[in-house]
Amino acid sequence: MAEYKTKVLIIGSGPAGYTAGIYAARAGLKPILVSGQQIGGQLTMTNDIENFPGFETPVSGLELMERMRNQALNVGVQIIDDMITEVDFKHKPFECNSENNNLYCGESVIIATGASARWLGLESETKFRGFGVSACATCDGFFYRNRDVAVIGGGNTAVDEAIYLSSFAHSVTLIHRRDSLRADQKLQERLQENPKIHVEWNSVVEEVIGTENPLSVNGLKIKNVKSDKSKIIKVDGIFIAIGHHPNTELFKNQLELDNDGYIITKAGSCQTNIDGIFAAGDVQNPKFRQAVVAAGSGCIAALEAERYLTENK
Ligand code: FAD
Ligand code: NAP
Repeated sequence: MAEYKTKVLIIGSGPAGYTAGIYAARAGLKPILVSGQQIGGQLTMTNDIENFPGFETPVSGLELMERMRNQALNVGVQIIDDMITEVDFKHKPFECNSENNNLYCGESVIIATGASARWLGLESETKFRGFGVSACATCDGFFYRNRDVAVIGGGNTAVDEAIYLSSFAHSVTLIHRRDSLRADQKLQERLQENPKIHVEWNSVVEEVIGTENPLSVNGLKIKNVKSDKSKIIKVDGIFIAIGHHPNTELFKNQLELDNDGYIITKAGSCQTNIDGIFAAGDVQNPKFRQAVVAAGSGCIAALEAERYLTENK
């Protein structure tokens, strides 16, 4: 067991964590960043990223995150591949224990543990993830210009994504397990008015269908739970929009979370309800789950941590 002491402890190695690290290191704060199991975060699960500024041609998620990691290392962030398992924010310095039995003591902490998409849990869904199955229409919708796509879910995200996709896809089939949507009335009205969107009510996905070589989706087997009848619909892309869960189990009894488990931060800031603890990225932002937004909030968190440390010398 080792004990690490730092002015700024960063938990998470996605765009929010690395950016916080880069800013904190350049401010001379010698941050320690604990990467977690998913080194590089969610983006490492995707291939072509076309909307992160600075890359004139698509960059793979792995490459983008490796570049961020190297940049963080080059400016002096100490990165430790470990997983925080327990936190104690009740006294200062803040303490975090880890899977490798290390103790991390931070005068300030930046939490950047992200959020994870919920998946249906089908084997075929896992197989085609990144090859026609996506959990992010803003990220991958662009690749389905004039193609047929399906969106799974009945909440605001699913309806939002169906409407968004309809602006470039040839057709959008929204598949919902019940006979009424959970989405806001206004969104439902926009959905009904949209000629490109068709809804399959009371329907669940049984299997994602596609080719092996190359791996590519070309259909979806769905079952109507009322009639018990199955059918195959032709689609080129499937967007799972059945919700996300923030990675905040650890912080439940330590920080103020909203009803969905996201860390509550002050408006326009990354400050949590505890002075010296900041949250950045998807873990505090259920609305704009994008890498550039996460990176931006990582920057804010580091600048706020720097100010906090100066004021609390
Ligand atoms: P994450 O990237 O989720 O990183 C969280 C980090 O926290 C991980 O490193 C994890 O290991 C770590 N962690 C979690 N728990 C612990 C713990 N207990 N101890 C230590 N570390 C921990 N956005 C775009 O802008 N463009 C795209 O094209 C795009 N495509 C996407 C494709 C897919 C398939 C997915 C799932 C998302 C995509 N996104 C895209 C969204 C983008 O990935 C997220 O908005 C972004 O990664 C959020 O960054 P983050 O740093 O907040 O968290
Ligand atoms: P959500 O509101 O929890 O909706 C999830 C949807 O997925 C529900 O319709 C649910 O069905 C369905 N679902 C869940 N598990 C499923 C499964 N295993 N198989 C099939 N379907 C499943 O999640 P969300 O839509 O991501 O929204 C999350 C939060 O963000 C909400 O508070 C939402 O209002 C907010 N948001 C707002 C906007 C906006 O204001 N424009 C946009 C996006 C999100 P049931 O209905 O049957 O439970």
